[in-house]
Amino acid sequence: MNPNFTSRLVALTLATFVVACGIYALPLVGLTQSKPAGKGNFKVGVSPLRQKKNVRLKMTAEDRQALQAVANDLNKVFILPQDVYLSMDDCGEANAFYDPSTKEIIMCTELIKYFEQAFAKEFEDKEEAAEAVDDSTMFVFFHELGHALIDIYDLPVTGREEDAVDQLSTLIVADGSEEGAASVFNGALSFAITDEGDLDDSAFWDEHSLGRQRFYNIICLLYGQDPKTHKDLVNDEVLPQARAQRCPSEYQRAEKAWGALLSPHLKN
Ligand SMILES: [Zn+2]
Repeated sequence: MNPNFTSRLVALTLATFVVACGIYALPLVGLTQSKPAGKGNFKVGVSPLRQKKNVRLKMTAEDRQALQAVANDLNKVFILPQDVYLSMDDCGEANAFYDPSTKEIIMCTELIKYFEQAFAKEFEDKEEAAEAVDDSTMFVFFHELGHALIDIYDLPVTGREEDAVDQLSTLIVADGSEEGAASVFNGALSFAITDEGDLDDSAFWDEHSLGRQRFYNIICLLYGQDPKTHKDLVNDEVLPQARAQRCPSEYQRAEKAWGALLSPHLKN
């Protein structure tokens, strides 16, 4: 795993949730009972259930160390009722998973290789391509974290969970900095550049929205967070005006909803 990705991930996780604690405390005014400490932690490695099956991860010592730093930071933020395991592994497909039966988030090495190939075609500049790979990997990690949080806290979701966790990832990665905005853009781009071929029915019954829909939904939230700063998304016709006008309220709803859902579970 690229060390840049993980150091950004750590910085973002902490910064975002420290800010979030302030913002997210708002819906809880009047409900200031002390929060019980959680029994669980974010841990790196294989869950006990899969340890029993002698599962061995294809994870380098460097990846393990980097993910441990991420876990440490997440542990400063979330009150977990049970352990959640983070790992990298060869999965046999370019994907990432949260498995509710084992409470594991698994980032697949094939996904990172896929991003490397896809962005090498998209960007001539190697550094830009490498950044896009990191950004997209980070976006996917927070997407999977969203699935984990929904499961662990038994959060209600109306609408499609896949869209909801894309929202959460956007809210976390778009931390108000220029770098955060660029990361969200690259994360969104990874969905837009996926060749979905000729669409058959499976594209419409799949639990995920189409790649280009995910792109526009994410870009809409980014624009909606700060229309002045991100006005070029509309000026450059990345985001059509007809959608853009709804985006500030879409952003506010997403932030309010995730804030209300997560605030009881944040340490502060
Ligand atoms: Zn998902």
